[in-house]
Amino acid sequence: MLNDAVSPSGGLTASFSISAERLRCHRARVLRRADTLASMSDTLFERIINREVPADIVHETETTIAFRDINPRATTHVLVVPKTRYRNVAELAAADPGLLADVVNTAAKVAELEGVAEAGYRLTFNTGEDAGQTVFHVHGHLLGGSSLGPEARPPK
Ligand code: AMP
Repeated sequence: MLNDAVSPSGGLTASFSISAERLRCHRARVLRRADTLASMSDTLFERIINREVPADIVHETETTIAFRDINPRATTHVLVVPKTRYRNVAELAAADPGLLADVVNTAAKVAELEGVAEAGYRLTFNTGEDAGQTVFHVHGHLLGGSSLGPEARPPK
């Protein structure tokens, strides 16, 4: 690498490409480590499930928990969360359809408890960046209590 660096233009290029490669490797190592740490550490919702973070819990079953969203976007805005962590609803459905049914049944129960079951409500699962998912522990947003309007904006 030193020899490459002392020869004129070609040497510089070689030296740069080696550095870039090393940088790529380093970056990949850092990302892999961050990924491992992220999967080892608890998400916010696991900390709520474990009562390490306070939440306004409205209903709980053996497999699910439902608590009010801290930043409500509807008169009723409750998050319904399986106690076992999956990143999103597709992963949950593939791995444990029974648990997904538990989440939906808990949402229906909460809708009854909140008095919105008859008038209607929405249950949405944001999945990925474009949908605005910020917590990567699958959760349904139960929204209701007034007319909710369209679900998404038309394309521009
Ligand atoms: P999402 O953006 O679909 O991943 O939804 C995450 C939701 O969690 C957002 O609507 C937040 O307002 C909500 N949230 C964040 N922190 C808390 C908290 N400590 N208690 C209750 N809800 C929270």
